[in-house]
Formats: sequence, C-alpha cells, structure tokens
Amino acid sequence: MDEMEKKQPVILVRNLTKIYSMDSFEVYALQNVSFEVCPGEFVAVMGPSGSGKSTLMNILGCLDTPTSGQYLLDQQEVSRLKEKNLAAIRNKKIGFVFQSYNLLPRLNAFQNVELPLIYAGVTRTERYEIVKKVLSEVGLKERMYHRPNQLSGGQTQRVAIARALVNNPAIILADEPTGNLDTRSGEEVMQIFQTLNDEGKTIILVTHEPDISLHAKRILHFRDGHLEGDERVDNPVRATELLKEYPNDENHDDLVEVGRELT
Ligand code: ADP
Ligand code: MG
Repeated sequence: MDEMEKKQPVILVRNLTKIYSMDSFEVYALQNVSFEVCPGEFVAVMGPSGSGKSTLMNILGCLDTPTSGQYLLDQQEVSRLKEKNLAAIRNKKIGFVFQSYNLLPRLNAFQNVELPLIYAGVTRTERYEIVKKVLSEVGLKERMYHRPNQLSGGQTQRVAIARALVNNPAIILADEPTGNLDTRSGEEVMQIFQTLNDEGKTIILVTHEPDISLHAKRILHFRDGHLEGDERVDNPVRATELLKEYPNDENHDDLVEVGRELT
C-alpha cells in the first residue's frame, strides 16, 4: 500500500441526518454529522442514552440508510443503495458485535462462527481451518463445540467477535460490546479489540462508559444527534496491563490462552 492509498478514509460521512417519522412528530436522531475514519484507527463513540449512537452504527454498518447526507465506505457511496446491495456490502466489509451477542442459541460456537462463511460460499474444509483459527485467536479453542448457554457472558461475546472477524472485514463495529459483562470479562473483550487493532483492524466501538472509551485512540462525543467533540487519546489504557492486576480465577482460565495466541 503506498502513502496516497493509506490516507484514504475507510469511512467518510458528510452532513449525515437521520429523521424517524412518528405518527405526529419527527425524531432527529442524527443531525449534520460529518467525520472521517482512516484505516487502522480505533474510535470510541460516546454519548448519553438517546444521543444517536446506535442510529449511527446502524448506518455505518449498512443496516439502515440516512435520511440525507453522504456515506462513503471504502470510497464507495452506500447511502442510497437498496437493501439487497447493502446486504452484500455488509457481508463483505463489516463485522458487527452487539451488546446482546446475537448468536443462534441452537448452534454451537463453531457453527455460529461458520455461518457467514457458508453464506459466502467457502468450502467445508476451508471453513474448518478458518473457524478454528479465529476461535483460537479469541481464546476459545477448547470451547468450539459449546452452545451459547454453556458459555459465560464473556466467552459468548468472544464467539460473537470471532463471528465478526471470520470474513476478514474492513471494519469492526461494536455497539456496547461490554455492556452486559462484568469488569474483568469486559477488559478481556477490550484486550481482544486492542490486539486486533495492533494488527491493523479498524474498530469503531460504542460505549457510555468512560473507562472503556479510554482504550480507544480517539473519542467521538455525541449529544442529541450532534457530533459535539472529536478528541485524541494520548495514552490509551492497555487492557493487557490492567488484566495483570486481576487475580487469576478458575472462571477465567481462557485468559492465558488469549495472551499466548494473540500477543
Ligand atoms: P443511543 O444509541 O445513543 O441511545 P439511538 O440511536 O438508539 O440512541 O436513538 C436516538 C434517538 O432516535 C432517540 O431519541 C430514539 O428514541 C430515536 N429512535 C431510535 N430508533 C428509532 C426508531 N426505529 N423509530 C423511532 N425513533 C427511534
Ligand atoms: Mg444505543
């Protein structure tokens, strides 16, 4: 990749506006939002409840379209595309991680992570290798055949991260990924995101917890649908460092594995 190419933003939004029309009134969920994200950035999106964070993520993730404004993903205008085309872009370029995991309960970890590869037409032999690799990367090699209800919240979220990674997307979007987790499991999830970012993945993560946002390299602040602030984080908190201060306990025996496989 030459210098010129490197500087092209992977996300460019200009005057993005989203209005929800209700029966008797309109909700301005986003108003004239403009910013860019370059490859390799790690951005936290902060703001109180109702400030438009999820609306923004749904548009960035091609799950929804704006009322007006521009959205270029990887230099392609996607804001006016129809659902069929959006779905194709979503599958290829976006890895989504949700607060509530959104795994299929009847499928085990392996099958949940495998699903996007089946849709993409990858052969069975290749699927096995790729799924095994990404589940190892999130420290779950020994849990491949567990179903979600046989895993802890932190482990379940790591399966969801593996599923988001499996198609090698251009960007990872995570909407409150630590919202349902205890502090330590949340820190382990942040450790995985930081390792992925160290390896060059672009990550955009919504949180309303200041402690979590300080793991990112940049923070966007939203209020009432407006982008109010855009700040650099000089010395992001390193999850690996914080985790050293937590005592090892049996419920978190996978951590050692994460450290070994990822760093
Ligand atoms: P956040 O994720 O920051 O809590 P949201 O993006 O979910 O905020 O919501 C922003 C605003 O848009 C809120 O006022 C919310 O009530 C409204 N909103 C979100 N989704 C819808 C929808 N599908 N229909 C109507 N209003 C919505
Ligand atoms: Mg939200």
